[in-house]
Amino acid sequence: MTRPLRARFDPAAVRHNHSVARRQAGSARIWSVVKANAYGHGLLRVANALADVAEGFALIELDGAIALRAAGFRQPILMLEGFYEPDELAAFAEFALTPVLHCRAQVETLLAAALPTRLPVYLKLNTGMNRLGIDAAELAPVLAALKTSGAVAGITLMTHFADADGERGIGEQWSRFQALRGVGGYPVCAANSAALLRYAETAGDWVRPGIMLYGSSPCPDTESAAELGLRPAMTLTSEILAVRELKAGDRVGYGGIFEAVAPMRIGIVACGYGDGYPRHAPSGTPILVNGRETKTVGRVSMDKLCVDVTLLPDAGAGAPVTLWGEGLAVDRVAAAAGTISYELFCALSARVPVIESE
Ligand SMILES: *Cc1c(COP(=O)(O)O)cnc(C)c1O
Repeated sequence: MTRPLRARFDPAAVRHNHSVARRQAGSARIWSVVKANAYGHGLLRVANALADVAEGFALIELDGAIALRAAGFRQPILMLEGFYEPDELAAFAEFALTPVLHCRAQVETLLAAALPTRLPVYLKLNTGMNRLGIDAAELAPVLAALKTSGAVAGITLMTHFADADGERGIGEQWSRFQALRGVGGYPVCAANSAALLRYAETAGDWVRPGIMLYGSSPCPDTESAAELGLRPAMTLTSEILAVRELKAGDRVGYGGIFEAVAPMRIGIVACGYGDGYPRHAPSGTPILVNGRETKTVGRVSMDKLCVDVTLLPDAGAGAPVTLWGEGLAVDRVAAAAGTISYELFCALSARVPVIESE
């Protein structure tokens, strides 16, 4: 028998979530954000799920973009950090990739390159995130240079929100972006999932949802994925390998950080941080056994974690376990572990077999 841990991928859920983004986006077109191996779900798996509906794919990795072209995808591809070295530009031209330009040096490199085709470009404006992006003072000369260049096929202005999911919202950044857009009449692209769902007025010409496509809420503190009508694209399941009776005072796992205060029964589950389950998930993190919710106990180890099955007398060796996904929102597990679903998805280990559901 093989180790029972599996990640089940549901392409219909991704398509459904894309349709939620579609409804919200109005007339804007949608870049499906598939960076980081489609948030751990598998780049080609997600691209195939969206093949008929995706208007474009956005990612960071050049090898991923080339893999999409090799697999026959013809949609525009947006490279969210552009290029890093001048010698990558030949591939941008060959594979028709749209670079984000976030600084003057990138702009100058592009303008100096002798490319066989013109490239559409995204010009990233810093409106308050203060990571990448051109500042207000640089915008006019950069735009002037791009406009007159023979290397450029079209310019879209973009920005990225720091707190679309939080209390601060987008107000300040959005008004700065509006001011910078000026009278140029350029197409714009600003919204991530949170902005698309909470501030539809930012949809502009293109939107860039990522996390919502995978069925997790971008703002789980205020609205759950279910409330947003999103469906989980990944369900991580395993089984109980063995059960054990504890008496009061018995300790569980490394460090003995959990101590039974009364007799109890625990199940040992085949899943650990070596699979991507967060080691910092404390005792009490929600988990399903036999479809019923219970809690983890003790420290998560590399290959195993423990669950309280005291109130689940039917749960023996072989009982099915859901770590997250259908029946248990990944956002609840992430919150218990003090992180966000993005990190859990991205951390899914290569040793976990992914099964595609019909
Ligand atoms: C990752 C990313 C997104 C998608 O963000 P979500 O919160 O997953 O919707 C959008 N834009 C940029 C620039 C990104 O890096």
